[in-house]
Amino acid sequence: MNESLVKSRAFINGEWVKTNKRFRVDDPFSQELIVEVSDCGEEEANQAIEAAHNAFQTWSKTTAQERSDKLLAWYDLIIENLDDLAEILTTEQGKPLKEAKGEIQYGANYIKWFAEEALRIDGDIIPSPDGQKQIHVIKQPVGVVGIITPWNFPQAMIARKVAPALAAGCTVVIKPAAETPLSALAMAELSLQAGIPKGVINLVPTSEASVIGEAITSSSKVRKISFTGSTKVGKILMSQAAENVQRVTMELGGNAPFIVFDDVDIDDAVEGIMASKFRNSGQTCVCANRVFIHETIYQEIVEKLTNKVESMKTGSGLEDDVSITPLINQAGIDKVKRLVQSAKDKGAKVIVGGNVSDKHNQIYEPTILTDVSFDMDIACEEIFGPVLSLIPFSNEESVVEQANATKAGLAAYVYTDDRHRIKRLSEQIESGMIGFNEGIISNHMAPFGGVKESGMGREGSKYGISDYLDIKYLCIK
Ligand code: ADP
Repeated sequence: MNESLVKSRAFINGEWVKTNKRFRVDDPFSQELIVEVSDCGEEEANQAIEAAHNAFQTWSKTTAQERSDKLLAWYDLIIENLDDLAEILTTEQGKPLKEAKGEIQYGANYIKWFAEEALRIDGDIIPSPDGQKQIHVIKQPVGVVGIITPWNFPQAMIARKVAPALAAGCTVVIKPAAETPLSALAMAELSLQAGIPKGVINLVPTSEASVIGEAITSSSKVRKISFTGSTKVGKILMSQAAENVQRVTMELGGNAPFIVFDDVDIDDAVEGIMASKFRNSGQTCVCANRVFIHETIYQEIVEKLTNKVESMKTGSGLEDDVSITPLINQAGIDKVKRLVQSAKDKGAKVIVGGNVSDKHNQIYEPTILTDVSFDMDIACEEIFGPVLSLIPFSNEESVVEQANATKAGLAAYVYTDDRHRIKRLSEQIESGMIGFNEGIISNHMAPFGGVKESGMGREGSKYGISDYLDIKYLCIK
């Protein structure tokens, strides 16, 4: 690991800031300490907000070309350091190194994309009703943005939010997840090397998330919150943000249905299920959570999935060919154990796996459950582990109803060869994103986000920057 990228202090106003308190960051595989990191409180949060507020006065007045150039310099450094960043990511988060490399590239793509979008923040000139005036529309950065991110994509979730914020002319205060601050701090170090001015990016790691959350939401200097995490915490932050009428982008939990109709290429569908379910050992908000399979092909798909799942290798993310690695912490393991046990109690059958690995206490074996039904918690909650829940269905109308019977609405997947059905389901399925005959859908050029309790706002694509811009109307006579 490149030690010069392993930072352990908070990053405020371009300085590495030491705090009295520190907290541990452990490797989920070795379960040993990687490093102790500065534990920020209200004081540091307020310093970071102040720094971001001051930097906003100048950063918001830079030209789009200057901001674009800085973002591109940051992108270049991330790509130059991709292997080291990936190793840091795997060490603190656990995911297979190949996936970590994929995440660094995926995150970097947002930075390049928004460097380009910075140049296209166009306004409008609209004719007025009486012809005597002109209606001009200009766009301005919203101000200081508070960014709170989860541990499952510790680099990409930051890149996906910071890039559009900076492109728009905003400055940011980031609170990374306590489990994974090192990827975030390494990104801050590279932003410094890229010449992004002091105070534009500030980063306050903490073991007390709510203290920083309150400092961010209670400050009238912070004009927007961008959060990715659980629906429960999203609701808390939305209610806190109401106090100062801060704008919010919320990317919250999912409960993705994955529907396989009987007209598909079965091997293709099996590949899609595997890709969507087992990436990051099942710890993504767009993972297939409920897999509905048409009853006529159910048995064949169960058999093919069984062969694939039985051959998956578990172990350290740094080993070759490993696909299932430790879950983030003991709470993650406890949740999966509870969901599988209660499903079994209600009649689900374990076809493969079903236990914590006997090699490692934080690895859950890749698992297939059949005969899952709707009265089971596993069909209602986000599993966040490598467990496939399979549910047979017999007709389109009922499966759409079942797919929509959740408060979540982030991703959904449909495998079918029928173009009329694709058109119908495009409209009927209640989710922000649908993968038709595709299990991996997220990329920088597409609008990522949810409906219902999965949140609001979009990240990536030409739409992503609008969350960081205010529209101003000028009536000119
Ligand atoms: P997860 O279950 O994936 O950890 P959380 O919603 O708990 O999801 O965490 C996502 C992010 O929200 C993390 O950075 C976490 O520290 C932060 N967080 C948790 N609780 C709060 C809170 N009350 N205020 C602000 N941030 C919080």
